[in-house]
Amino acid sequence: IWGNVTKQLRDEMSTVAFDTWIKPIKPVEVAGDSITLCVPGGLQKGSLNKSMIMTKYRSLIESSIKNVTGKSLDLDVCFETNSGVQADDPIKQESALNPKYTFDNFIVGNNNNLAQAASLAVAETPAHKYNPLFIYGGSGLGKTHLIQAIGNFYLTNNPGKRVLYTTSEKFTYELVNAIREKTNQDFRNKHRTVDLLLMDDVQFLATKELAQEEFFHTFNALYEAGKQIVLTSDRLPSETPHLADRLKTRFQMGLLADIQPPDYETRLAILKSKIEDEYFTFDEEIVEYVANNITSNVRDLEGALKRILAYAGIERTNTISMELAQKALKEILSTLPQRNITISVIIDEVEKYYRLPKGSLITKKRSNDIAYPRHIAMYISRVILDESYASIGDAFKRDHSTVMNAVKKIKKMVTEDTELQEIINELVTNIKKD
Ligand code: ADP
Ligand code: MG
Repeated sequence: IWGNVTKQLRDEMSTVAFDTWIKPIKPVEVAGDSITLCVPGGLQKGSLNKSMIMTKYRSLIESSIKNVTGKSLDLDVCFETNSGVQADDPIKQESALNPKYTFDNFIVGNNNNLAQAASLAVAETPAHKYNPLFIYGGSGLGKTHLIQAIGNFYLTNNPGKRVLYTTSEKFTYELVNAIREKTNQDFRNKHRTVDLLLMDDVQFLATKELAQEEFFHTFNALYEAGKQIVLTSDRLPSETPHLADRLKTRFQMGLLADIQPPDYETRLAILKSKIEDEYFTFDEEIVEYVANNITSNVRDLEGALKRILAYAGIERTNTISMELAQKALKEILSTLPQRNITISVIIDEVEKYYRLPKGSLITKKRSNDIAYPRHIAMYISRVILDESYASIGDAFKRDHSTVMNAVKKIKKMVTEDTELQEIINELVTNIKKD
């Protein structure tokens, strides 16, 4: 792939730029829907290269990749360090783990703390407390990240031990191949002799009887040998149609840990940590705008961020303005069902929530039972509509500085008060609903 991509890039760039920035890049791997590239040159020079590539050439590289493969691949850039790329280590290679998934870069929130804590416990002391560990939750919520973090953590702390990361699809595919090529014994050895088996997306096993049968025996062999098994799925075993009862029973023997969609606070924290990695500085306001508007899952949050960075790349800037962020997210947001939100919609919803008579927020009343909801409505108008203080003022019949102070006050309270965060989340959800 990379050869063709560079050929394309060479046509589109000046020779000097190409030789300086693109030529030294080494492709490391294509895994799933992401491609990892490595820039040489030690940490300092490497980070300069990386930020250049991310700001100026990212969108160009991504579109060339798309031209060549017909797919959009996520672009990851890492540094080449002196210790060499990890792919050299045979044990790590055998594990099929992607080193980018770690506990260190996994943000813990109310939505995933059980799954994270259980994963860490398993990685520290396998086959001790929870065996198997069964992590379940919707798409893009961090299951693959967590299950791989377990493997990476364990391998780092127990060099020489054997870990295998696989998916139920890969398991099935390899099983079918093994039967055809009469290499069943190799297949069994591969899966039954490890210290830690990580099986991602086990829900896909359910439709394949042969694979279920084989996995049942794999599971038993490992379990009886005192080895740890970790499974992920998009749903509970009991809610997986066609999953054999004996597998259901086994999957439920250990701990079932769910991952829920991230709340506002967690979305904010995730965005901030991803931004840190990207060598960009964002205004708090923009991070809040994204966290308020992209609520579905972490993959979409990352996608939103990538779009913003791609736009920044096109416009050759690394200061991201609200205008740029809105432009970048316009398409994503327009595909979400949304009503036309105006300040008056916000006022209506806040009044409804606080059971206030219609129109009370725009009266002159200053008692706290009205002033507080009014300030919240002003704050929401500012963060989700990005209206100017003056036009929010017009809608509330207040002046610009009153609005500014109210927004500032609520913003500060939100960072300290989780109950208020939840109220605002709920309000924003109501506001977006038709
Ligand atoms: P799933 O396997 O549940 O569909 P993934 O593990 O692939 O989801 O997560 C999607 C993306 O979101 C990945 O890039 C992952 O690194 C990131 N991600 C998910 N949860 C978190 C989190 N809590 N902190 C940081 N990144 C996360
Ligand atoms: Mg996954």
